[in-house]
Amino acid sequence: MSALDIVRIPVLSDNYVWLVHDPESNATMVVDPAVAEPVLEAASARGWTITDIWNTHWHPDHTGGNAAIKEAAKAWGGCTITGPAAEFERIPTLDIQVRGDDTVKLGSHLASVWNVPAHTAGHIAYHFADDGAIFVGDTMFAMGCGRLFEGTAEQMFANMQRFQTLDDATRVYCAHEYTLSNARFAVTVDPGNAALAERLAAVESARAAGEPTVPTSIGAERATNPFLRAPSAAELGRIRALKDAA
Ligand code: ZN
Ligand code: FE
Repeated sequence: MSALDIVRIPVLSDNYVWLVHDPESNATMVVDPAVAEPVLEAASARGWTITDIWNTHWHPDHTGGNAAIKEAAKAWGGCTITGPAAEFERIPTLDIQVRGDDTVKLGSHLASVWNVPAHTAGHIAYHFADDGAIFVGDTMFAMGCGRLFEGTAEQMFANMQRFQTLDDATRVYCAHEYTLSNARFAVTVDPGNAALAERLAAVESARAAGEPTVPTSIGAERATNPFLRAPSAAELGRIRALKDAA
C-alpha cells in the first residue's frame, strides 16, 4: 500500500479543502469541497481526476462544491459523494450515506467513520488508522474546537475523549485556518502552559509569513488544545462559551 498524497487547498476566507490521492488505484477524493473550481484545478494540475467526495457535515462551506464537481466528473466516469446519513436531507447531492463505525475506502486505504456530533447533529469524521490521518471537519481545530451549533458540551467532550485515544503521530486535517485566533484565546485559559506559549509564538510568525498551520497532530493538540485537555464537559462548555464571547 503506497502512501496517500494529501494536498491542502485554501478557499474562501479561511477554509481548507483536502485533496487525497491514492497513487496505487489512482482514486482521488476531496474532503468537504466548499467550492468546485479551485479543487478541480488543483486536481487537474496534478493529472488527477476526482472520483470521490467525502463530506463531514452539511454546512455550505463544506458541501457547496459537491454538485459542480459531480457535474465536471461526468467527463471522466463520475464521482461518488459520501456523507453523514443523519444529514442526508440537508445534503441533497449525497450518493452514499454512512454512519458511525462504517468503513469507507479510497483504493485499498480504509477509513472508519466516527460519529462526532456537536458542531452539527450528524457531524462525522474519517479516520485512516493505517495511514495515521483523521479528517475532522469542524469538530477539532488547531488549539480549538467547533462551535456547538446543534449539540452539547457533553457531546463535544465525548468527541475529545475519543480523539485522546489516537496516538501522538496521527495527523489531524481540520477544515479551517483558525489557529492564530485559537492560540491567542488558548493562552488566556491556560496561561501556565509553556508548550502553548511556544506554539503561539510559532503560529504568529507562520501566519505573519502567510504560511498555513494545518494539518496539526494529536500530539501537538494533546499538549496545547484547551478543549482536548478539558477535564470535564462542564469545563469544555465553560471555555467554549468564553471563546464564543471573545
Ligand atoms: Zn461547519
Ligand atoms: Fe466550516
